[in-house]
Amino acid sequence: TQAHLDAIEKARVLNAYLLETPDRALAMAEVADQKLAAGEARPLEGLPLGIKDLFCTHGVTTTAASKILEGFQPHYESTVTHNLWRDGAVMLGKLNLDEFAMGSSNETSAYGPVISPWRRKGPDGTGDETKLVPGGSSGGSAAAVAARLCLGATATDTGGSIRQPAAFTGTVGIKPTYGRCSRWGTVAFASSLDQAGPIARTVRDTAILLTSMAGHDDKDTTSVNLPVPDFEAAVNRGVKGLTIGIPKEYRVEGMPAEIERLWQQGADWLRDAGAKVVEVSLPHTRYALPAYYIVAPAEASSNLARYDGVRYGLRVPGKDIAGMYEATRAAGFGREVKRRIMIGTYVLSAGYYDAYYVRAQQIRTLIKRDFEQVYASGVDAILTPTTPSAAFGFGEKAKADPVEMYLLDVFTVTVNMAGLPGLAVPAGLDAQGLPLGLQLIGRPFDEETLFAAGQVIE
Ligand code: GLN
Repeated sequence: TQAHLDAIEKARVLNAYLLETPDRALAMAEVADQKLAAGEARPLEGLPLGIKDLFCTHGVTTTAASKILEGFQPHYESTVTHNLWRDGAVMLGKLNLDEFAMGSSNETSAYGPVISPWRRKGPDGTGDETKLVPGGSSGGSAAAVAARLCLGATATDTGGSIRQPAAFTGTVGIKPTYGRCSRWGTVAFASSLDQAGPIARTVRDTAILLTSMAGHDDKDTTSVNLPVPDFEAAVNRGVKGLTIGIPKEYRVEGMPAEIERLWQQGADWLRDAGAKVVEVSLPHTRYALPAYYIVAPAEASSNLARYDGVRYGLRVPGKDIAGMYEATRAAGFGREVKRRIMIGTYVLSAGYYDAYYVRAQQIRTLIKRDFEQVYASGVDAILTPTTPSAAFGFGEKAKADPVEMYLLDVFTVTVNMAGLPGLAVPAGLDAQGLPLGLQLIGRPFDEETLFAAGQVIE
């Protein structure tokens, strides 16, 4: 714990932590020492973790990287973090993210972007000093793990926010099946898509953390009452006899050749390890991104209605109560959040609801059915690239068109729309020395197969 606290202090330029909690960390580490000495070690005894600042932590400021939650100290603990402390983990601090988890580059945080610890190689092999994004929205979690500022981190994934930053930083991340982890006490973005999961250095670490984070919770009616397997035990199971599907619709136009090659390489590794690799079809893939960017903002606009200046954090006075609401929301929310609220309110409005929201929900059913058919045909898991590109420099995408940023989610949002588990594993480096990731998509509640196949690729 002390070594990590020291490392965090030296790496403040990365802006990965919004809040460091050294006193709490050392107190928790002390308890861990006692437990270890008494031979009563719990499963995660003494492991120092970073917590995405979207998880409410009792008595510790929780901001969702938004000005509107400035100074908010929850008087409750999220179930996921509660489970980690129950098992002996130590909290190092709260990690930066895109504001309300909306973004793909961690540039929308009200507290400044996170800088990736990675740098490109220049053409002559020397370093290129361009600062790169860590991906988002769990950019702080991914950068902190990659820079060794924690052993593992919590993260959340609504449309790729665990898997895409894991791919950009050479770390491992899993979005579990919807319902595997409780959403209670996690700031809501799009409730039908949001899932918590871990980012860590290895498939094994990720499996260990998920075993603690997961589990039924009476406080979240969408959390599923199924036993939590020992995910670590699945890691070395191998892939002999499994069938891995390669979806032809994921060969999108403009995908860099090196990502295409890596995808092929991943398939070869799985085949060499005893899996059968087959081509599969997910015909409604091309509708997933537009449908996601209707469903997610619609739910966000509803979830974010609660930030009214009365109940949480920031309050900006106005001449009457409506004026106070307006002034608070105008000052408290950033541009991307306002954009989502406007899109969401529009697609839910009378007259447009059927044309946009209902159609998007229908598409969602079709996407889910595509996956069901592939799994019914005997496929155990699906292999795809995690992202259509490696990490990019600051401002390279954000300044252009917001839609360009949304396109980065093309391979990840389908998984949230269908509620399936998805694991991102680092699989190689591009010509500039930046990490590239592959994604494994599983059957509902079959994270174990993903860990087994991920271990073969890692
Ligand atoms: N990039 C996506 C978005 O901005 C995903 C966000 C997420 O998974 N939290 O909506």
